[in-house]
Amino acid sequence: MLAFQTDFSLQRYNSFGFSAVAERFVAVEDIATLIPLVNHCQQQRLPLLLLGGGSNLVLSDWIPGVVAHMALKGVEVRRREGTRAWLRIAAGEPWHETLEYLLQQGFYGLENLALIPGTVGAAPVQNIGAYGLELKDRLTGVEVYDTQEQRMRTLSPEFCQFGYRESLFKSEAPGRYIITAIEVCLSTEPDVMKLEYQALRETCEALAQGDAITPQHLFAAVCQLRQSKLPDPRLIGNAGSFFKNPYVSSAEYQHLKAQYPSLIGYPEGDLVKLAAGWLIEACGWKGKSVRNVGVYEKQALVLVNHGGGNRAQIEELAAAIGQTVEQRFGVKLEAEPRFYP
Ligand code: FAD
Ligand code: NAP
Repeated sequence: MLAFQTDFSLQRYNSFGFSAVAERFVAVEDIATLIPLVNHCQQQRLPLLLLGGGSNLVLSDWIPGVVAHMALKGVEVRRREGTRAWLRIAAGEPWHETLEYLLQQGFYGLENLALIPGTVGAAPVQNIGAYGLELKDRLTGVEVYDTQEQRMRTLSPEFCQFGYRESLFKSEAPGRYIITAIEVCLSTEPDVMKLEYQALRETCEALAQGDAITPQHLFAAVCQLRQSKLPDPRLIGNAGSFFKNPYVSSAEYQHLKAQYPSLIGYPEGDLVKLAAGWLIEACGWKGKSVRNVGVYEKQALVLVNHGGGNRAQIEELAAAIGQTVEQRFGVKLEAEPRFYP
């Protein structure tokens, strides 16, 4: 029996804090609830929105159909071989707290992704990344319920088409696969640390005080850096970086760099990744507000809800930012969060 709550407020379930209302809401705590729920939505032709922590979403005031809050729980070690361990983590586990637990248990390799809000199940959707590490670097499989074939499957990382803040789940087949768990390969030795980002390396060195840097230092450094720069969604509504960093050709980069010597770019293969935050700040948007929403004063890539904002206001602000960046630099910005409905 599916126990829906109707006219359910999602204000606490989206990190922008928008006052969205779901027509029907249900928490999915086991696969035995999930499958009848999907069948019901298919039979009744009801749209189904899967909700984790709501930290990468822009919600409208009214969400028709069903909102399913993914609450499947469990972390288990599946296999060990030498210093490697393969773990299955259920979709409804909170991301940051799970990383904290893994660190305590001596499983290393995900520290760069500390303090990212949301759930484990949403992490493959945009292949979450931070400080030079992406989820795909540690992922060995994604367990899903395939709503088209109506069966459980385990998808390989290659099948998931992971890219920069992208995946099959976001681009090609949104809604088809419901992620029930992820499988990762971690290390029991601190041989997997990624310290390429300068600020991260420097913070780790400061914390280690001349000793060897440990995964605990790395985890603490990431938390420290993020807390100094990013707004806490519990205090100021936001969805993290609102725009993806754009990629341009080397020639385009050289052309822009000649005009703007302080432009920040990171070469990746034939392309150069530009820091979208730099472009937005250069257009004078940092700290600006329009009606109830604005651009965060410490990080121009983050749009915030000062209270009473909504989807229309955020869309308007994002469009205005995109327009000025394109006019000035000839670079198109793409939004990172997903809009519903
Ligand atoms: P939600 O917002 O609930 O959902 C996101 C999308 O995934 C939706 O389309 C939803 O339908 C879908 N989805 C959710 N669960 C499932 C499931 N089980 N199966 C299939 N689809 C599902 N992101 C980064 O990559 N790097 C960062 O460093 C980062 N920092 C952030 C900092 C802040 C302050 C905030 C607010 C956000 C940040 N984000 C970052 C974005 C966001 O936290 C991540 O994308 C996170 O993985 C979203 O998780 P969630 O559970 O909140 O997903
Ligand atoms: P930052 O360290 O000030 O860097 C600014 C930008 O330059 C980042 O976007 C980053 O790209 C890029 N960069 C910096 N050093 C780099 C290097 N050595 N190699 C390649 N690219 C480099 O960024 P920040 O705002 O404080 O964020 C820190 C990290 O957290 C970043 O990785 C960022 O993506 C992540 N983050 C993501 C979100 C989100 O919602 N998606 C929100 C907050 C923070 P990348 O973004 O590609 O790493």
